[in-house]
Amino acid sequence: MLRIGLTGGIGSGKSTVSARLAELGAVVVDADKIAREVVEPGEPALEQIRERFGDAVFAADGALDRPALGRVVFGDPQALADLEGITHPAIWRRTAERFARAEAEGAKVGVHDMPLLVEKAMAGEYHLVVVVHTDEEVRLRRLVELRGMPLEEARSRIAAQATDEQRRAAADVLLDNNGTPEEIAAQVDRLWEERVTPFADNLAAGRRREREPVITLADPDVTWTQQAQRQLARLAHALGDRALTLDHIGSTAVPGLVAKDVLDLQVGVESMAAADATDFVAALEAAGFPRVEGYVADTPRVHGGAPVSWPKRFHGNCDPGVAVHVHVREVGSPGWRWALLFRDWLRAEPAAREEYAAVKRGVETQRLSMEDYAEAKEPWFDGIHDRLEVWARESGWTPEGR
Ligand code: ADP
Repeated sequence: MLRIGLTGGIGSGKSTVSARLAELGAVVVDADKIAREVVEPGEPALEQIRERFGDAVFAADGALDRPALGRVVFGDPQALADLEGITHPAIWRRTAERFARAEAEGAKVGVHDMPLLVEKAMAGEYHLVVVVHTDEEVRLRRLVELRGMPLEEARSRIAAQATDEQRRAAADVLLDNNGTPEEIAAQVDRLWEERVTPFADNLAAGRRREREPVITLADPDVTWTQQAQRQLARLAHALGDRALTLDHIGSTAVPGLVAKDVLDLQVGVESMAAADATDFVAALEAAGFPRVEGYVADTPRVHGGAPVSWPKRFHGNCDPGVAVHVHVREVGSPGWRWALLFRDWLRAEPAAREEYAAVKRGVETQRLSMEDYAEAKEPWFDGIHDRLEVWARESGWTPEGR
């Protein structure tokens, strides 16, 4: 099941978007609702709160007196940590149960409606993060006029949340809700049709996204770095300590360089056996990065000699909205080191960047497939190994210092 994290600042229209996604067929798990449910009468967390904070935070009818509890924990970090120590495990358990149930019942898409997704750094847990963006003045006006919130309260709630910039950095998809309700509904429908549905289908089939038959170069995109960070966060979450290193490599990792619009990521593992382990392959596939068979080694010609074999494994991705190549290599192996050295050389040397850009431009005109394009660049690669090593020596480069 495709897991979408949906967030946005208060008053942005997040609830409006999640309602539309539910109409389209997603199962929506509402984080605020679950946070309320776990402290309803009869819930174990409620009794733990009574033990820790006493009767003073309960109303006469036995229900939790939220404002009273709020006053107790406000400005008291230890009290807040104690409260969260009680409620968070209950919330996470119930959230996981809801998603598991939705999946068992055959849902293809689950949406976690999560106001604090960015504040709690949860983006890596989802296949796709959707952020509803609405300008602050518009949000204030809607909160006051439509939800009857006092202006000062609306202002202070907005100030207590993540900034728009932080949310933007976490967003795979940014929906603009400054316009009419019809406009936001149309954006959600388009997102569902063009990205969510094919993504969910690819994920269910363990199939990588469709690829362009012919590669084209894109002008440097200043968002590549952030895009890569989001994908790396997903890999980190999926693999945990099985990923010894995680890096953005390749041309999109070099600011200012023309490139295929593909994020190349390198996962460093202990050994190729670790990369072939069933649970490793399954974890990447479940996170939306299915393994592509047939890539068992890079075969560069180093120092003009015969091709050498640098083992690797390769995973593509399911999201039709972004192309990701995941290269899995053994930490410290020549191929792992070379990918980092090449990137850092290009980052450091403007002349090298220009030379490589010219090679790419020359090859692009041949209108080649991904594989043939890579092959056509090989002669240039054959010639640069010695230059890279000289640069590494002279600049004192080490992979650890990257
Ligand atoms: P959130 O869940 O992000 O706090 P809501 O979905 O409750 O925000 O939206 C805030 C208020 O603005 C609600 O009263 C909602 O009906 C209204 N609203 C949402 N989107 C629009 C829009 N495009 N135009 C006008 N009002 C909107």
